Amino acid sequence: MTPDIDTMVVGAGVIGLAIAHKLANAGHDVVVLEQHNSIGTETSSRNSEVIHAGLYYAPGSLKARLCIEGKSLLYRFAAENGITVKRIGKLLVACDSDEVSKLEDIASNALANGVDDLVYLSGVEAQRMEPALNCVAAYLSPSTGIIDVHALLLALEGHLQAAGGSVVLASRVVGITRSASGFRLELAPASKNGENAPEDSAAAITCRRLVLAAGLHTSKLATQFFQSEAKSPAPKLVGYSPPETYYAKGHYFSLAGHAPFSRLIYPMPGAGGLGIHLTLDTAGAARFGPDVSWIDAIDYAFEDPDGARHHSFAQAIRRWWPDLPEHLLAPGYTGIRPKLAPQGSPPADFAIHGPETHGVQDLLALYGIESPGLTASLALAQYAADLLTT
Ligand SMILES: Cc1cc2nc3c(=O)[nH]c(=O)nc-3n(C[C@H](O)[C@H](O)[C@H](O)COP(=O)(O)OP(=O)(O)OC[C@H]3O[C@@H](n4cnc5c(N)ncnc54)[C@H](O)[C@@H]3O)c2cc1C
Repeated sequence: MTPDIDTMVVGAGVIGLAIAHKLANAGHDVVVLEQHNSIGTETSSRNSEVIHAGLYYAPGSLKARLCIEGKSLLYRFAAENGITVKRIGKLLVACDSDEVSKLEDIASNALANGVDDLVYLSGVEAQRMEPALNCVAAYLSPSTGIIDVHALLLALEGHLQAAGGSVVLASRVVGITRSASGFRLELAPASKNGENAPEDSAAAITCRRLVLAAGLHTSKLATQFFQSEAKSPAPKLVGYSPPETYYAKGHYFSLAGHAPFSRLIYPMPGAGGLGIHLTLDTAGAARFGPDVSWIDAIDYAFEDPDGARHHSFAQAIRRWWPDLPEHLLAPGYTGIRPKLAPQGSPPADFAIHGPETHGVQDLLALYGIESPGLTASLALAQYAADLLTT
């Protein structure tokens, strides 16, 4: 039986679009299904827009490898496609002498990952570069930069379309089962405003090959599929359970004014995040965050009912910017990290599960694509395409 589509990708975030673009360029017939009315409205547009250098991730991990490969690919892709990108560099700072050994550990880790361009700076040298900064020592990462993510998403979609693929919006997948030709995807009916309603499915579509790049939702979709497989009259799969996704929300405050910094400023990382840091967008606007709040359900609300979050941000920022005008901090937005390790556990790597992991031919599921997923996106797409086509 011939499927409706050869390759279906669920999720039009940066990862789904990058994989679809890669597969379409290789001559495959690819359709991306996206539940919302626009591409990239979940994690891909709720992040810091930083092209990471690859300092923090465990040597040999997918995060380290794909971040470093992805960084070069992303700079090149941006240059070739007129996407605003700025290699402005970042200062990783130790604010007191107790933090210096942590700073050195990160620099050693970076070197083990092959990041050999870090420049050590004394506190005085760092302050010469950024006069508003307070620190006792720092490393300059010259290959860290910022990118206009919306332009990146549009470029990936444009290339996908030019290669014959497409993105279908307002198409929420609510169920996946096996079919004679591969997979059968049930879609939720569209509501009046074009978005999907959460009710039962209204339509179904089949494909030969399936990529689950649904960000925060991949675990749920995969669990539903593998549970239905286990209940089928002749279950073929044993011993595979999709990893669970835990949610770590990050809030951002913006600065209603000009920040006196020309580089990104990162303090020492904390549990679950990189510490309250300063990033600049490609237009020069400053924002601070993200913090880490573990939540049980996806909810993007910016929460600061009694001003406690505002206060804790101000305290954290003052460690490295003592003259912060606190009244200029304004609530910004939130993003949610899809974590594969629960609160209090060591960080987990990206989990990209193909047939060799779960035993189902022509199925790829991507879990835990938190930071540096944006930086890694183009390298990750190549890695994913290789897993599917080998
Ligand atoms: C706070 C924060 C800051 C970050 N900062 C950086 C950074 O500076 N640099 C960096 O490299 N990385 C950063 N990241 C990581 C980066 O943003 C992510 O790795 C990346 O955006 C993940 O993309 P994605 O396509 O996997 O997920 P998403 O962008 O969430 O895309 C998944 C898509 O799937 C769709 N979908 C889900 N379920 C269904 C369904 N059932 N049917 C149809 N569609 C569905 C969703 O609507 C969504 O559009 C950050 C992440 C966070 C949370």
